[in-house]
Amino acid sequence: MHLDCDAAVVGAGPAGSRTARNLAAAGFRVRLFEEHRSVGVPSHCSGLISLRTLREAEIGEEAILHRITGAYVHTQSGAEVALGGGATRAVAIDRVAWDRALAEQAQHAGADLVRARVTGAERENGHVRLTTQTDGRTSTITARLIVGADGAHSRVARSLGLLGPRTKSYNLGIEGRMDVRRADFVHVFVGQGMAPGWFGWIIPTGEGGVRVGIGSTNGLKPVECYQRLVLAFPQLFAGIEPCRMYGGTIPLEFAPRSYADNVLLVGDAAGQVKPFSGGGIYTGLVGARHAAATAIEALQRDDVSAHNLRSYEKRWKREIGRELLRSLRFRRFGLALSEGEVERVVRALNAPGLQSLAERHADIDYPSRVLLRLARSAPALAMLGWVAVRRPRTTWDLVRAHLPFAV
Ligand SMILES: Cc1cc2nc3c(=O)[nH]c(=O)nc-3n(C[C@H](O)[C@H](O)[C@H](O)COP(=O)(O)OP(=O)(O)OC[C@H]3O[C@@H](n4cnc5c(N)ncnc54)[C@H](O)[C@@H]3O)c2cc1C
Repeated sequence: MHLDCDAAVVGAGPAGSRTARNLAAAGFRVRLFEEHRSVGVPSHCSGLISLRTLREAEIGEEAILHRITGAYVHTQSGAEVALGGGATRAVAIDRVAWDRALAEQAQHAGADLVRARVTGAERENGHVRLTTQTDGRTSTITARLIVGADGAHSRVARSLGLLGPRTKSYNLGIEGRMDVRRADFVHVFVGQGMAPGWFGWIIPTGEGGVRVGIGSTNGLKPVECYQRLVLAFPQLFAGIEPCRMYGGTIPLEFAPRSYADNVLLVGDAAGQVKPFSGGGIYTGLVGARHAAATAIEALQRDDVSAHNLRSYEKRWKREIGRELLRSLRFRRFGLALSEGEVERVVRALNAPGLQSLAERHADIDYPSRVLLRLARSAPALAMLGWVAVRRPRTTWDLVRAHLPFAV
């Protein structure tokens, strides 16, 4: 039977474009669907990534807007620590240009970029039929395989019976201008009264530009979180000139399953996001590499059954699953701490020994590595013991995630 394409990739974000690019480069007929008129617009992201992410995306350093070497961490009650300050730890990118560059890579490899919203998908005689809409016109197309790279509210997942990630944070992002204390430092704000279950941030983007964000996981409106943040740190936010505001959802756990018959989920749709920071560009690209490799093998064998696609989940989890799980446990542990305990942790990080540990091992893609080292330090062990007595379950959960046999 003639099908319109081998693979329909839904969503031209980083994960979708990268998957489409690799599939097309292997010679498959790929359609990449994007609902927005212009790829990457509007952006819902602060665009802070590691240098490793540039390499994963095969995009050069010309994408860098600004370099970040460290972070100020603030608690709502006023404790503060400055971490880093040496080498480049992260870079701010132009997220619109980034998404366009990745979509162009996919097109150069031979993928067909189609401006259409996918409104539904169903299985039919061993393949998938997608319904799409463009400017009110409805069409259908058939594919052997569909890749859901359609973000945190994945319609592909819902249409084909897969569950998306459960825990999410709801955020407000602001692009604007303001004076910052140090242009190479981000600010991170923690406090349950201000950003319940989540945190706030300021990312300098160079020449006075900033990206500010904050959110919560408990239903407190992001705009309310922002008001509380400004109220708590009036001296930092005095003089902010917002230029653009946007909302955005961040999945904080991976989906229970990222594959089924004829379908793979990748990026935010699969919850391939760092639960400690909400960063999902790097992890989505890693997911895309494995999604494409699995899809290529399955299409070559002409077997896109769930049984044959299940290796995808094993592959991406082998590379980043442990990190995501460990970070998730650190996050849960952090959430279980009282405001006073968080403040003590932040103050303790000012100790020179811990500062140099953080400086040596900080890695925004693998935060659990530095957290684990910090957690093994004497002050942290004392605190862990103290918290363990009061909250044994959360502590055991954290410790268990770091045992060699943990997933
Ligand atoms: C406020 C905020 C700040 C963030 N900051 C950072 C950061 O600094 N660093 C970082 O690494 N990550 C950050 N993230 C997370 C990051 O933006 C995501 O993890 C990343 O964009 C996920 O990529 P993706 O390709 O999976 O999905 P997306 O980038 O969400 O792309 C999905 C694409 O699918 C399209 N689409 C959706 N539904 C359909 C449909 N039905 N039909 C056709 N097209 C569809 C969308 O238009 C979109 O283009 C942030 C997120 C938020 C909300």
